[in-house]
Amino acid sequence: MANSVVSELNNSEVFRMACRQFDQAADAINLPEAIRDRTKYPRRRQAVSLPIRRDDGRIHVFEGYRVQHSLSTGPSKGGIRFHESVTIGEVAALAMWMSWKCSLVGLPYGGAKGGIVVNPRTLSLRELESLSRRYMQEMINILGPQVDIAAPDVGTNEQVMAWMMDTYSNHVGHVEPAIVTGKPLSLGGSQGRREATGVGVAYLIKKYLADMKIPITQATVAIQGFGNVGSETAVAMVGYGAKVIAVSDYTGAVYNPAGIDIPKALAYVQYNKVLTDFEGAEPITNEQLLELPCTVLVPAALERVVNADNAPKLKCRLLAEAANGPTTNEADKVIEARGDIELIPDVLCNSGGVIVSYFEWLQNLQQYYWDRDEVITKLFTILDRAKAAVDAQKEKFQFNRRLAALTLGISRVAEAKQKRGLFP
Ligand code: NAD
Repeated sequence: MANSVVSELNNSEVFRMACRQFDQAADAINLPEAIRDRTKYPRRRQAVSLPIRRDDGRIHVFEGYRVQHSLSTGPSKGGIRFHESVTIGEVAALAMWMSWKCSLVGLPYGGAKGGIVVNPRTLSLRELESLSRRYMQEMINILGPQVDIAAPDVGTNEQVMAWMMDTYSNHVGHVEPAIVTGKPLSLGGSQGRREATGVGVAYLIKKYLADMKIPITQATVAIQGFGNVGSETAVAMVGYGAKVIAVSDYTGAVYNPAGIDIPKALAYVQYNKVLTDFEGAEPITNEQLLELPCTVLVPAALERVVNADNAPKLKCRLLAEAANGPTTNEADKVIEARGDIELIPDVLCNSGGVIVSYFEWLQNLQQYYWDRDEVITKLFTILDRAKAAVDAQKEKFQFNRRLAALTLGISRVAEAKQKRGLFP
């Protein structure tokens, strides 16, 4: 049967990539044709105009999106990205991956994602607040603690979540912390949420290195992206005794084979905003970082950075996908044919973020708060379970690890839809 959804909305390279991954997984598990398209395509997409007053008095209209991929197993859940290259197709792909991720790790959520086409660095703090509040205002009709819950992603942070939570709370007339996760602790944020994604990435790297019989204290790590996820991964890897030899941001990368002083780099970025001219490491390009000889390569920035051109040149033993969708379909084939690189697929690797977001939402609904030890212990329990399930699926069907993770995630979503009937 030909696809029943053919639309300009799907005209995006990242979306096509997510669809090819889905098709491969669906073929591998013989997913019935009747359930394929409605498991694959997003349930709902909303595009909005976001007029704000700039500091110079002009009115500027930005464009924003929210895509809810699946609402079959609970509210949808997903971050909001502020980036100049956001498209509705990219947001749809990210929402799709959220569905497989939540399903894989056993959370009662479908996937969603949001975004605004904006470079947040070009906004003043007041303009950023106006835009964040306006986005929430325009999306209120499709958001809610039992409908769709937002979170931070690239270009957004705790402060943006605080403004969004405040806008929603003012609208409904009472404080509603469960509308977004990744909030400041003072507004019902969870202990451990800020570092959760990176802590989870590093924990899984530790587990896979142990499986590969590589002592973590002898591991070298190169990380692309030094924002929330990249920097917290770096901190946690150093905590495990590994050596972080390269980190990068959108301005370029820095490299020191003897190891980068991560607390110093963090302090530098906090003050200067970028890694440019960071002392104690030599400047290299983001492309060079990806091809460095290292034990672990961690893409923690944007999609499609590992591609057919550089995949043959990777010199890592383990590729840990902290970012969503960092590896193209073509690069997947190269990596599989090479056979010398282990891969932790994104839907498993960065799931620590949404797992602790789930804990935050639970704490908000119950108005009962946990300490950090409880959060991290519960996070590791879920990650252990998900890793074991993925590795068992890989062995049982002789799949690669991405296919193992995706088939688990996708089959549970498809089964839920099938059991409920045609509407969800
Ligand atoms: P962030 O905005 O905090 O950091 C992004 C980093 O990437 C910054 O250092 C930025 O300078 C860098 N960057 C941007 N463009 C780049 C480029 N072209 N080359 C190299 N570096 C570039 O975002 P984040 O929250 O750390 O998200 C990073 C990735 O992790 C994204 O793929 C996101 O979807 C994924 N992720 C985030 C979370 C979360 O909890 N924040 C959870 C799961 C997955």
